[in-house]
Amino acid sequence: MKSSFNRSQLSPNDITLGIIGGGQLGKMIGIEAKRMSLNLAYLDPDMTCPASTIADQLIVSDYKDEKSILELAEKSDVLTYEIELANSAVLKDLQSKGLAVHPSPAVLNTIQNKLRQKKFLKSKGIPVPDFEEITSIDQARRICKDSDYPLLLKACEDSYDGRGNYLIRSPRDIDKGIRYFEGRSCMIEKFVHFTKEVSVMVARNTKGQIASFPVVHNIHKNNILDTTIVPAGISKTVEANARTIAEKVVKSLKGVGIFGIEMFLEDNKLLINEIAPRPHNSGHYSIEACSVSQFELHIRAIFGLPLVKPRLLSPAVMTNILGIPNYTGRYSITGIDRAFTVPGMKLHLYGKRITKPQRKLGHFTITAETTQEALSRTRRVRKLLRVEKLLGNKKEEE
Ligand code: AMP
Repeated sequence: MKSSFNRSQLSPNDITLGIIGGGQLGKMIGIEAKRMSLNLAYLDPDMTCPASTIADQLIVSDYKDEKSILELAEKSDVLTYEIELANSAVLKDLQSKGLAVHPSPAVLNTIQNKLRQKKFLKSKGIPVPDFEEITSIDQARRICKDSDYPLLLKACEDSYDGRGNYLIRSPRDIDKGIRYFEGRSCMIEKFVHFTKEVSVMVARNTKGQIASFPVVHNIHKNNILDTTIVPAGISKTVEANARTIAEKVVKSLKGVGIFGIEMFLEDNKLLINEIAPRPHNSGHYSIEACSVSQFELHIRAIFGLPLVKPRLLSPAVMTNILGIPNYTGRYSITGIDRAFTVPGMKLHLYGKRITKPQRKLGHFTITAETTQEALSRTRRVRKLLRVEKLLGNKKEEE
């Protein structure tokens, strides 16, 4: 592990940021870090991962592999991660030996398990949908008998993008759901009939200074984020409440770094869905539409540098570019030349070699004078950009 640096003599060329995960989030953290000439060391199982093109060093290994995490730590002044799958036990050990790991392994441990996360939030008086731990199939049947349908059965760990959720519509689904998650710990949650899904990015630095981004409106398709719209089209009171709740979450966690706080808006009531201890897809708009991006505030936060309150410069709409259904293999994206004729359009391509169904391959953000204009231009670009199979190439599995 490198010795900690003296910030009054900060020489960025000598500072290495270690990042567990070289996907698009790791890459975008890296792009921001490179603006400040930091060195980048990554750990990722794929040697062609998105961040491989900007990495100074890349350790190719499973995210949880202890030996490789230690190797990454040896090279790093500050260690962060872009995924919740990181090995919190090994990170805890490194932290106790003096390495700066942000967000802390304790925070990661609380968030990694959905039940632990919800229990934590509830204990701090932060509003969450009603939930209960599943201890046996009989107990699950009893809970369902006493509740209104539908309900959501959720796997507590290693679940993301809705893949850990099973909708219980009637008593018949309970056994099926429990079988579906066999061997995994589960919880059951009240289904929220939300009017909107919103989220707030919050940064907190090592000194406890906190800054939150504007509230955004998220539209999901097949459980994957499709579009983020900002401003969220909510009242000033709801906007202020959402930011207050989101800041309270990060303060209560004593989290350091950037956090994505996803919430349901049901009538005028806000309930937390989940916390991401990292940059979040719904914060990508901040690159173009805010005075400071989620990636810059993450770096400032973990290096103990001052934060500033992000200002929204203009309305914006961010749209994900996703892999086509039922196809895994090489691909191309067509229509880019015409898409660039649309004013205010910024394209981000992650450089993934292979597409998979629903895989996030890139995104585009449109900034405009009004939300309506941004939405209208988004519809134009959506029609132009196409993910196409690259024919004549043998299907490649990763
Ligand atoms: P998750 O992976 O738990 O964030 O869930 C993915 C998506 O499932 C969310 O963005 C929501 O659209 C939906 N979802 C999750 N939990 C609930 C809930 N309790 N009630 C209604 N919809 C939910």
